[in-house]
Amino acid sequence: MLKGKSAVVTGSTSGIGLGIARALAREGANIMLNGFGDAAEIEKIRSSLAEEAGVKVLYDGADMSKGDAVEAFIKKAEDALGGVDILVNNAGIQFVSPVEEFPEAKWTAIQNIILNSSFHGIKAALPGMKKRNWGRIINLVSAHGLVASPFKSAYVSAKHGQIGLTKTVALEVAESNITVNAICPGYVRTPLVEGQIDDQAKVHNMPRDKVIREVILASQPNKRFIEIEEVAALAVFLCGEMAKSITGTAIAIDGGWTAR
Ligand code: NAD
Repeated sequence: MLKGKSAVVTGSTSGIGLGIARALAREGANIMLNGFGDAAEIEKIRSSLAEEAGVKVLYDGADMSKGDAVEAFIKKAEDALGGVDILVNNAGIQFVSPVEEFPEAKWTAIQNIILNSSFHGIKAALPGMKKRNWGRIINLVSAHGLVASPFKSAYVSAKHGQIGLTKTVALEVAESNITVNAICPGYVRTPLVEGQIDDQAKVHNMPRDKVIREVILASQPNKRFIEIEEVAALAVFLCGEMAKSITGTAIAIDGGWTAR
């Protein structure tokens, strides 16, 4: 379905980003991976995905917290892949703390990695998409882009901001065959959520299994974690021809969480 297209997925050495990169590669897209981690492990991911999907898979470790680095990363991907047709802004971190104790450095890092990197990536990728009159931008947001939870002021603010950015850019590029959408998952069991289970256990002074049951999945009516593959399948659909009129939306995939 995506043969001949090129996709950049930020934060794709782990979790949801890696799942989306894998699903896009299986549809025939060439891929630029990004994110942190052990160099040998990342090379193993890169080479096995290239072999399995029969596409070009490259990797660049640009730091998404730095605007200049994000824009240089997009240019590098354009040069290496012959253009960026699909941009998935997925890189993200979390930090949990009451707002009055929230460390300013953590606040700034979350805004930079989640919201500002989406702005810089979109800004750098749009001219090429407009030139080719085709593009797909997916901002990997969260149910926390639609509703809040206590102790997550930075994350909830950045994720709500990403939805505003999604809507605004969708309107600006609607006549250029470029769609811009936000995917808003509930809880998906990735390393990011494993960290939150530990953090919430400290904040609430509870054991981990109680946190999973009573804090994490308390807001998710279907009472199970969402699978990475479910989120990746939605991303693939949004990249296809049948999704060409879906733009400026925030699509929840959250087991009913935001229906409350
Ligand atoms: P993860 O921790 O498994 O993956 C995060 C990725 O981002 C990793 O590849 C990491 O190396 C990368 N990253 C972090 N800081 C970076 C930086 N400065 N520069 C470049 N890469 C960086 O987390 P995940 O759960 O897969 O989260 C992916 C996205 O999905 C995030 O935006 C997160 O907010 C969102 N999300 C996750 C869940 C969930 O339940 N896991 C739910 C909703 C939304």
